[in-house]
Amino acid sequence: MKEHTQYAESLALYALDALDNAGERAELETHLRSCGECQAELEALRGDTALLALSAVGPAPPARARQRLLDAISTAPPKPARTQRMIVGVLRPRWLSFVPVAAALLLAVFSIMLLQRNARLMNRLDEARAQLQKTKAIADLLNAPDAHHMTLVSMPEQPKPPQPQIKMIYQPQKGGLLLMANNMEPLPANKVYELWLLPANGSAPMPAGTFKPDTSGNAMMNHSMAAGMEAKAFAVTIEPEGGSQTPTMPIKMMTVG
Ligand SMILES: [Zn+2]
Repeated sequence: MKEHTQYAESLALYALDALDNAGERAELETHLRSCGECQAELEALRGDTALLALSAVGPAPPARARQRLLDAISTAPPKPARTQRMIVGVLRPRWLSFVPVAAALLLAVFSIMLLQRNARLMNRLDEARAQLQKTKAIADLLNAPDAHHMTLVSMPEQPKPPQPQIKMIYQPQKGGLLLMANNMEPLPANKVYELWLLPANGSAPMPAGTFKPDTSGNAMMNHSMAAGMEAKAFAVTIEPEGGSQTPTMPIKMMTVG
């Protein structure tokens, strides 16, 4: 059995997951289970390893941590007891020849760790940058003054004739009313369309003007109601020329919403 001071080199490599010799690893792990001092040293070395890995982005690499790891390999056990001295004597040639190799190995392991960490950070940075570019491209498109905004709807199998449509503006306070009609069905010569205001207070529909579409089905009407008449809806019926005082069913068109 080695004294635990002899495990220094194995511990340093073990802390870096670089102790490739299965026999040495098993021996060290067995020793670790029964030696608190080596466990503590392993934790310290692992902390140093993490510090070095973090130093890839940190302001200053912790030289102390690196040095401690190197020291863990190169330092001979302090004031060895008699039995320890014997073992050291036996190990010395191998120990000495091992030091530069171990140091080089440590540096190689550090370099790989730093490179991997850098690569991970660069990947994340690239992803963030790509995401940002995508977002910016969408924002640019939305805000572009020369972009065309379009709506696509499902295509009817049979093309429908253009539907009658009325757009109107009503201002209750002044009673002003403007109506624009498109695609209206043509009317017999003695008929007109009549607009009705359905009062918000629920009283009877009030005549709100008549109009007759031109040959293209378009009409425009400007009408004045009594001021202050709140409307809950408007409706359109077909009435005799000159208009009616009460609507003739059926209602042909009605405001929606
Ligand atoms: Zn130990």
